[in-house]
Amino acid sequence: MIKAKKKFGQNFLQDESIKNKIIESIPNGVKRIVEIGPGLGDLTQKLVKTNSQIDCFEIDGELYEILVDKFQDEISSKKLSISNCDALNAWDKISSSEYFLVANLPYYVATNMILKAIDDPNCKGLVVMIQKEVAIKFSAKDRDKEFSSLAILAALKGKCELLFDVPSTAFNPPPKVVSSVIRLVKDMDLSLDLDYAEFKNFLKAAFSAPRKTLLKNLSSLQSKEMLENLFAKFELNPTIRPHELSVALYLKIFKEATNERREQRKISCGKISYE
Ligand code: SAM
Repeated sequence: MIKAKKKFGQNFLQDESIKNKIIESIPNGVKRIVEIGPGLGDLTQKLVKTNSQIDCFEIDGELYEILVDKFQDEISSKKLSISNCDALNAWDKISSSEYFLVANLPYYVATNMILKAIDDPNCKGLVVMIQKEVAIKFSAKDRDKEFSSLAILAALKGKCELLFDVPSTAFNPPPKVVSSVIRLVKDMDLSLDLDYAEFKNFLKAAFSAPRKTLLKNLSSLQSKEMLENLFAKFELNPTIRPHELSVALYLKIFKEATNERREQRKISCGKISYE
């Protein structure tokens, strides 16, 4: 009998109806599915019945041996591949061609994995089970108090929705928290005309103290005067909190702030050359 390893976040999904609901949530026409953490292969068993090519990445060597034995036929027919590795260190392989991510993710690295998938142009979307608290952060809409930088990064690529909750009784062993399944279908990319790394820094500052004002949070990046001008330009109340601003306004403020900084730099460079 296999003993679940806490260090790998192993909570095996047992509930048939939840497994079916996850499969039904995958959009039609997906050619390649990547599953991170196939575990004992319960979800994999259903994935191999779809029309997609399935590529799995499992960190646990003991489970890998079980999976290779269980899916001998699917592996020989090349319907399925299984790699024994840490998915975070194998992203080049995950991203070797376009894919849709489907997984009951290990909760200890779920946020990192979702962010990697969001940033990966070869990832066309995801249906993943994660801790409910994290699911809310990714799927929240502006003015929800949980609206976060994670929701903004997801929203740049498409619609992220919380599909349904999963009680801990659906797993063995049961996790201590409620889980939820989220879906992101990437149908746009608003990050393309941005300095994306800078935008992420900007969001980090904006949400650094979520209950403080946006003005205060952004003052670590911009001068007070520049911020006050920006807020006036976009008719924003100086007491606005970070969760109260829409994605569109975040983009506008960021672009405007970047332009202002460039102008300032030009002016100061100009000064240097005349002096
Ligand atoms: N998919 C199975 C299910 O639904 O029953 C198992 C899900 S369990 C929550 C998470 C799985 O991810 C485990 O099999 C665990 O060993 C695997 N895992 C944990 N960290 C991983 C990593 N960094 N890379 C790949 N797999 C990982």
